Amino acid sequence: MTETLAPRARKVKILATLGPASSDAKTIRRLYLAGADAFRINMSHGDQKAKTKLVEHIRALEKEFRRPSTILFDLQGPKLRVGQFEGGRAVFEKGSRFIFDQDDRPGDNGRVLLPHPELFAAVKPGTNILIDDGKIRLNVVKVGDGQIVCEVKVGGAVSDNKGVNVPDVLVPIPALTDKDRDDLQFALDQRADWIALSFVQRPEDVAEARSLIGDRAALLAKIEKPAAIDRLNDIVALADAVMVARGDLGVELPPEAVPPLQNRIVACARQFGKPVVVATQMLESMITSPTPTRAEVSDVATAIYDGADAVMLSAESAAGQYPCEAVQMMDRIANTVERDPSYQARVHFTQTRLEPTTADALAGSARQIAGTIEATAMVCYTSSGSTARRIARERPPVPLLAMSASLHTSRRLGLLWGVHAVHTRDVSSFEEMVEKAKRMALRHQIAKGGERVIVMAGIPFQKAGSTNVLHVVRLIGDELDRYHGTGDSAEQ
Ligand code: PGA
Ligand code: MN
Repeated sequence: MTETLAPRARKVKILATLGPASSDAKTIRRLYLAGADAFRINMSHGDQKAKTKLVEHIRALEKEFRRPSTILFDLQGPKLRVGQFEGGRAVFEKGSRFIFDQDDRPGDNGRVLLPHPELFAAVKPGTNILIDDGKIRLNVVKVGDGQIVCEVKVGGAVSDNKGVNVPDVLVPIPALTDKDRDDLQFALDQRADWIALSFVQRPEDVAEARSLIGDRAALLAKIEKPAAIDRLNDIVALADAVMVARGDLGVELPPEAVPPLQNRIVACARQFGKPVVVATQMLESMITSPTPTRAEVSDVATAIYDGADAVMLSAESAAGQYPCEAVQMMDRIANTVERDPSYQARVHFTQTRLEPTTADALAGSARQIAGTIEATAMVCYTSSGSTARRIARERPPVPLLAMSASLHTSRRLGLLWGVHAVHTRDVSSFEEMVEKAKRMALRHQIAKGGERVIVMAGIPFQKAGSTNVLHVVRLIGDELDRYHGTGDSAEQ
């Protein structure tokens, strides 16, 4: 009998960032067993060569547990930075003048290189320039002759290559730098399931990335710029998923602006049926402490009550002292929140309108039927992943086992709320479809003998976007799995 890991009891997914604290096979395996459903590889740090090992370790889990694994490569994006200083640092004095220029000699307390020529045309007197996650603030007084003259509003020490944020203007800078293009090619060579685009400002940024990626990977747009908020609907419509990237969003905007935006982004993504990840500082204190603050626990819980598809760990799992404990903590919070009797009502607080398609009509009905007949699970056949996405969008009260003959699709499904993805062979007849759905529901332990399961598929089989069958089956106890592994990754 093939060993299968029982599906997670919770619906929300955990996306764990890998880094120096979690780059060996043993730790990645421990993170997975602790509850990590998908892994983020951050291209902002480290070199490409080290990343190939991470991919190997993650895909090894796929073989060991016979479950699709999910890898998201996060491109650094056009992160703005100051140049370098004489002696590595300078002190910006409150009230004094400071000049950004295009001279690559080391900077001092009065000037420094700003290696982004586009900015010199974009900023105007009054524009705010922030350095080092907003710790240092300057205000533009005058622009011209290759110089941006500023007044220092909040001073402090600044070291080489610190990050720069210019929240007030749409920066006329391409969404993908040369490094991003190179990293993107690398990620695609590594068979990334998801590519995350940082500092998206316009829908065109998503379209440009899409033209480079094609259908080789799914595309997640990180919402971390005020300009992206202005075009949110168009960006969500073009992307395959979005992230509420609260780290940079909270630098570009006052921190109190972030929670209402989190609400808005999650609701918008859910309306479109695109997975949404809530990210950054979720369990921040667990970087150095084995237990989180109460406020952090509440923050994770809020994202889950809002119906986010996934919650993310950054430094907690990548560079902290307690990577596994952080995943375990998220897992415990999620299990507890989702068992709360008020969870179902709260998760449906965001009303999603069904679209006038057969797939949506069936997805909506399936949720209702599950409640009415107390079905234990749903099983769907999905080739592109769209059927699974439309069902998950309804946030049904039971687990969804999504079977796909495409390994690519089943891996991508790892970010979706409530979806237990299985890579399997196609079926060719209605009887076979029903039999297999029953067999898989039992094998993957999402339902037991005597229980009812809702099966959804499209006929003719193997044709994308044709979901048109909803069938209710009752499982019989002795139909238990007699399958023996063949060494092939697809289940039969
Ligand atoms: P980052 O993105 O960790 O790559 O900066 C997430 C965020 O800004 O919140
Ligand atoms: Mn960011």
